Amino acid sequence: MKDRVNAHLLRVQPYQPGKPASEVQREMGIAGVLKLASNENLLGPSPLAVNALRENSVKMNFYPDGGCYYLRRRIAEKFSVPPSNVAIGSGTDEIIRILCQIFLRPGTQAVMGHPSFVMYLISPLVAGADVVQVPLRDHTLDLDAMLDKVSDSTRIVFISNPNNPTGTIVTKAETESFLAKLPPDVLAVFDEAYFEYVNDPRSPDAMEYFRPDGNVAVLRTFSKVHGLAGLRVGYGFLPDAAADAFDRVRNPFNVNQAAQEAALAALGDLDHVRKSVEFNRRGKLALCRGLDRLGVGYIPTHANFILVNVRADSEEIFKKLLLRGIIVRPGRFLGYPTHVRVTIPSESDCPRFIDALEEALAER
Ligand SMILES: *Cc1c(COP(=O)(O)O)cnc(C)c1O
Repeated sequence: MKDRVNAHLLRVQPYQPGKPASEVQREMGIAGVLKLASNENLLGPSPLAVNALRENSVKMNFYPDGGCYYLRRRIAEKFSVPPSNVAIGSGTDEIIRILCQIFLRPGTQAVMGHPSFVMYLISPLVAGADVVQVPLRDHTLDLDAMLDKVSDSTRIVFISNPNNPTGTIVTKAETESFLAKLPPDVLAVFDEAYFEYVNDPRSPDAMEYFRPDGNVAVLRTFSKVHGLAGLRVGYGFLPDAAADAFDRVRNPFNVNQAAQEAALAALGDLDHVRKSVEFNRRGKLALCRGLDRLGVGYIPTHANFILVNVRADSEEIFKKLLLRGIIVRPGRFLGYPTHVRVTIPSESDCPRFIDALEEALAER
């Protein structure tokens, strides 16, 4: 069978997820594991979403609503776009995957920053296309350099804003100049998974550039500020042609019923969004103060995670933190071999993280 596997798939490295807390608990017998590896909402899920699942018992012997009728309409209303331009996926990851299936094939290419979100590499390769990775400048997406790499075979440009794993933003001015020069048949995908956390007026809201007949797609998710990562539901705004193709390509029941109901409730839970943003703001202040005290460098972040410069092999520090019950993401797989990526802990968990990091660094 081996030579029957599509050869282009052998270029794909499997996604390396953050280590689950339950695994560390099981393997190392450590209780109270602190998982800071996957940028999850450490305040918890939206309480309205939790209630919605408690009160509407999901009729799990029936298929879910394949068209996500209510959720799609609610999102369309909130963002003032036609429901037909709203795409809902089993996580934003699925929408990225489907966009690649729609626009890419062997001989075409996607352009992304490097380092940036690894799904922009995996999904085009799975579609048999090539990926051009454009180095960051000052840890920030370099939109001019990315534009320079757009060629006749480019179909998609991925812009993670803030950029995962660096937490840096592009500016409105950079974005507008980029869009003005981008060929109108190349899709610009703005992945705003951390949009709600950004508190900087220079950062664009890509929805301002979305038009049903345009070449901008905008992706958001319920996995981060809404705290529903485990349910797998993401959404996006796609221009007409992409939205039409999306419904042809996706699985008939790609978003499960529990996810739809929780997401519908979470979308209206502005209080939880506000609290989550405040939780992150306070955590970030405490964390950066602690890092400054240790003299440990980091990249200033606009999101709910931060790249910490441990000036050592990231996996060595990862393992030392693991022994102390703290899971971070080693930068080795993220293009930053001497950094670790850390979800911003709660203000009250910051001392535990800072002490563990201090010990791990001192042990070397
Ligand atoms: C977390 C994240 C997503 C969201 O992924 P889901 O599949 O919706 O959980 C999308 N893009 C980036 C850059 C992310 O970091």
